[in-house]
Amino acid sequence: MSVPQSIHTTLNLLPQTVRMYVFLALAMSLAIAALMVPVSKVKADDGGLNLDGDMVQGGLIHGRLQAGSKLWLDGEPVAVGADGTFVFGVGRDAKESWTLTWQKADGVKGQQVLTIEPRQWKIERVDGLPPKTVTPPKSWLERRKKETGRVVSGRKGISDDKHWLSGFIWPASGRVSGVYGSQRILNGNPRSPHYGLDVAAPKGVPVVAPASGIVTLAAKDFLLEGGIVIIDHGMGVTSTLFHMDDVLVEEGQMVAAGDEIGKLGDKGRATGPHVDWRVNWYKVRLDPYLLVKDKPMPEKAE
Ligand SMILES: [Zn+2]
Repeated sequence: MSVPQSIHTTLNLLPQTVRMYVFLALAMSLAIAALMVPVSKVKADDGGLNLDGDMVQGGLIHGRLQAGSKLWLDGEPVAVGADGTFVFGVGRDAKESWTLTWQKADGVKGQQVLTIEPRQWKIERVDGLPPKTVTPPKSWLERRKKETGRVVSGRKGISDDKHWLSGFIWPASGRVSGVYGSQRILNGNPRSPHYGLDVAAPKGVPVVAPASGIVTLAAKDFLLEGGIVIIDHGMGVTSTLFHMDDVLVEEGQMVAAGDEIGKLGDKGRATGPHVDWRVNWYKVRLDPYLLVKDKPMPEKAE
């Protein structure tokens, strides 16, 4: 057994008998340590994951494993489709370093560190909102609770489809009047960040499905959202579109990317006609702008 030089030097400073005991103790502990290494039949996966998507805060990330594999993101299970496809998203305030662990059907395990790039968020002041929409009155609470419940259900992710994989289109043609992640100050009061991408356009222009999927929520008159539609694109990825003056689809209906789902409007908490488009991976709020394949519209208004 070879002993590192530093240990040799230390040992040489000790008397002969003590030196022998130290040597024996060292040899024994090394032998015990060797026995304690788990004898595992699981081989390590030499190849890393081929990840695609935006490795930034608010990004949707996907990839593919062998069919029958399992995947964990920081120890939390991530669904893997029948063909091995997986998708997950990271939020606005996502930390920089994540660990992806997977196990193939044959038991081979692998691990990879995922680095998420942080972003800068802009500050957005919105004034002149009807006060009751900024601080909803008590009389709204009961109704609001029901509405929030329906939004939560709509984002549960009921479909195994992979419509999110085909890319997204703009839900309306207009100018971008609000971006994801900005810190909002409503009527002078700092509020939680804005998670939508706002596209402003004249009232009545068509709002279309940004990607195909099944309609899991369709309502014409929510307190803060006005006309609202949620589309389930599969594997936990959903789009929520609101402030619409009219909603033209029904819950349970399949829509294709580009299908008209409603009329752009200013219902709910809005200062002017626009559609607010949100994208979620389950409860994680993502940046819709990152998902638009062709980006002909400017990123920011003004
Ligand atoms: Zn908005």
